[in-house]
Amino acid sequence: MNLSFGPEYEEYRREVRKFLAQNWPPKDPRDRGAVQAFRARATEQGYLYRNIPRQYGGSEQAPDLLRSQVLRECFADAKAPMEIRDRGIGLLTPTLLAWGTEAQKAYFIPKTISGEIRWSQGYSEPGAGSDLAAVQTKAELVGDQWVINGQKVWSSGAHESEYMFMLVRTEPDAPKHQGISYLLVDVKQPGITIRPLRQVTGDSEFNEVFFDDAKTPADLIVGPRGRGWEVSRTTLKHERSNLNGNLYSESMFNRLVRLAKDTVRDGRPAIQDPDIRDRLAALYGWLLASRYSSYREFSLTAAGEEGGHFPLMMKLNGSNMAREMYLIGRDLIGDDFLLARSGEGGVGQAAHRIWARHNMTSLRLTIAGGASNIQRNIIAERALDLPRDSRVA
Ligand SMILES: Cc1cc2nc3c(=O)[nH]c(=O)nc-3n(C[C@H](O)[C@H](O)[C@H](O)COP(=O)(O)OP(=O)(O)OC[C@H]3O[C@@H](n4cnc5c(N)ncnc54)[C@H](O)[C@@H]3O)c2cc1C
Repeated sequence: MNLSFGPEYEEYRREVRKFLAQNWPPKDPRDRGAVQAFRARATEQGYLYRNIPRQYGGSEQAPDLLRSQVLRECFADAKAPMEIRDRGIGLLTPTLLAWGTEAQKAYFIPKTISGEIRWSQGYSEPGAGSDLAAVQTKAELVGDQWVINGQKVWSSGAHESEYMFMLVRTEPDAPKHQGISYLLVDVKQPGITIRPLRQVTGDSEFNEVFFDDAKTPADLIVGPRGRGWEVSRTTLKHERSNLNGNLYSESMFNRLVRLAKDTVRDGRPAIQDPDIRDRLAALYGWLLASRYSSYREFSLTAAGEEGGHFPLMMKLNGSNMAREMYLIGRDLIGDDFLLARSGEGGVGQAAHRIWARHNMTSLRLTIAGGASNIQRNIIAERALDLPRDSRVA
């Protein structure tokens, strides 16, 4: 089997490596100005922000899954930064490109790429999570402004963002999915209160956000009024790949095996315990299945096909594997796990604290971006053609 990408892409790989060798790292990789200058040069070369037109600060390249994979590999090898990781890049920019006005694109995209504007996502509410179309936060058009009242919750990074893209109810009498609009809102204004939520890890990454007569200009609606549901479904279609998603799981699995070797149980290394061996072997089976499924998905997409049912399964599989991995870690550490508090003021051995932290954060994977039960429903309906879930009206 030939696993290379072919001569054209290997030539491209050499070109990218040469660029990286000449441009990264700068004298001080922590210098934000130097990192920004590097990103600008890489964009100029066509390596970053590939799907964003040049007029908005991107490099405007034709979609090419293999080139983007070569880039990911080369940048990872060189430990060089790729695009800014921000909801504004992954979620908002594709939406603006598909639905935004010329003024919205020209103003927001360059500032998002440069990191000058950071975004939070205001979708979930206390009564609207999996059933997102139940959003109740209202916006009314008064003169040339939207006036917003209501509450969002779980808004990641809202306390560090300048703007929020959000779903609001603008047509209270329309059917559920047709009464929603998509607005862009400056979160640093008096009508908005952002309250961080403290998590089980001790961190505060999410927020409750309250809107009391908050305002945004009438022209900061994206797409037509009442079609926010459709607008919010826009995703980045090109160049996505799960190929690198397994690398982290595999490196954590190797650490888990080390922990099993270093932990003594009943007077011998825990790796010799039949129960631990069974669980590690089963987990490794899932890891390999996931790795080879991502190869198949990649090959299908590179050949211009849809990627099969693999994309539907990847999230559920990834969160199941992470959860099992950290449960094995917890069982290996035993009673000491209770001491291994992560975060500020944590106690216990450093290695144990890492596992305690991962154990808690792995819970988030089963909820964020669609809870596991919802993923199961999606697989049942779209991949297995089972009857639709009976929904409560
Ligand atoms: C790490 C993290 C980051 C997040 N960041 C953001 C953010 O930036 N912005 C934002 O808007 N939101 C964010 N969220 C919120 C996230 O989108 C919601 O938590 C998620 O959609 C689930 O909604 P919920 O919490 O209301 O749970 P619910 O929808 O109330 O679900 C509770 C339980 O019921 C189950 N359930 C619900 N409906 C069904 C069904 N039809 N069939 C079977 N089971 C069902 C679910 O699987 C779950 O186990 C974040 C969440 C997490 C964990």
